Amino acid sequence: MPYEYDEENIFAKIIRHEIPNDTVMETEYTLAFRDITPQAPEHILVIPKGYYVNYDHFAQEATDPEILDFTRVIGAITHAIGATPGNGGEGYRLIANAGRNGVQEVPHLHVHILGGRPLGRMLQRAE
Ligand code: 5GP
Repeated sequence: MPYEYDEENIFAKIIRHEIPNDTVMETEYTLAFRDITPQAPEHILVIPKGYYVNYDHFAQEATDPEILDFTRVIGAITHAIGATPGNGGEGYRLIANAGRNGVQEVPHLHVHILGGRPLGRMLQRAE
């Protein structure tokens, strides 16, 4: 089934510079900016500039340079915020929500980078 992408979603508007953002890093294919409602001292969103609705869309249809760049930017930011465990950092978490079960609010692929405090267990246990 083809992926449907809503070009009026808020992150598409950020990519088109229609609304402002607090940029952390920008490359040819990727943009990283601070979350407007941070849930940790470090809460950065990394998005591809290409219009991909979620991770599986990106994995299926993005070009190799887009995927490589996206991955490298995420890694560069974990270093930039001093969170990498192998280099004296205290760690971080990556989250990519998709669809209804993933409770994705904005329908443009984004990876949350969270750090700067202990983040607790990954999920609440289901009742
Ligand atoms: P999701 O639930 O889709 O994984 O996460 C969407 C994230 O986007 C939320 O953490 C929310 O705070 C953030 N967000 C929503 N609107 C904006 C915005 O206009 N600017 C920024 N920087 N973040 C936003």
